[in-house]
Amino acid sequence: MLVDTHAHLDFPEFVHDIPGVLHRAHEMGVTTILTIGIDLESSLEAARLAQQYDSIFASAGIHPHGARSLSNEDCDTLKALAAGPRVVALGEIGLDFYRDRQPRSSQTRCLRQQLELAVELKSPVIFHIRDAYEEFLRVIGDYPSLRGNGVMHCFSGTWDIAGKCLDLGFYLSVPGTVTFSKAETQQQVARNIPLDRLLVETDAPYLTPVPYRGKVNEPAYVRYTAQKIAELRNSTLEEIAHETTANARRVFSIQ
Ligand SMILES: [Zn+2]
Ligand SMILES: [Zn+2]
Repeated sequence: MLVDTHAHLDFPEFVHDIPGVLHRAHEMGVTTILTIGIDLESSLEAARLAQQYDSIFASAGIHPHGARSLSNEDCDTLKALAAGPRVVALGEIGLDFYRDRQPRSSQTRCLRQQLELAVELKSPVIFHIRDAYEEFLRVIGDYPSLRGNGVMHCFSGTWDIAGKCLDLGFYLSVPGTVTFSKAETQQQVARNIPLDRLLVETDAPYLTPVPYRGKVNEPAYVRYTAQKIAELRNSTLEEIAHETTANARRVFSIQ
């Protein structure tokens, strides 16, 4: 059994074939999928999918690519979405200083507004952090009650940064890029994450693992990521599946 802790099932690649996506996932042992909100609209759609299908849970949040100053009304809408049935996390939220689609100051402000919501809701947080770990660690220091209650999605930092995130009690989620032969840093991290903090994800439709690299990613393929992690750790697919599933259930309080 595997949990894909990060997919975008409301994207056009999937939205017309959800039963097919779920069927192919189940055939590969992927029984549960978290579909992730990136703005208010996609968070609403994610929540709808989660209510429609037993194997889907949702998150609600505003991605740093769409970061802006949130009005009181935006915050109320997001809060209502995040508190809805089968919505199990706030996210993805964070900082993306690689693409820099929004000014960095807006990204930080939008992140802080959502962290305040997470504190209020006592909700686990799914973080999207790219080339911004230093700023992230500075910001997150101001929210001690969130320690232990978050996931570094698609973790792409060094082992040194990983250690700092682990010290904060966060889980590290490994995507399909770990299967790429040149992904040495990511492989080193995947080898060393304590087993009780490790998660797997696709970030579908992006970041397709080998052997489907270059094609559209989908939740079924999280199995290849888990398999690669098992090889890197001299473990078995069964053990990685068992532990990552237990971790996902714990952090998101799902069954
Ligand atoms: Zn992301
Ligand atoms: Zn994502």
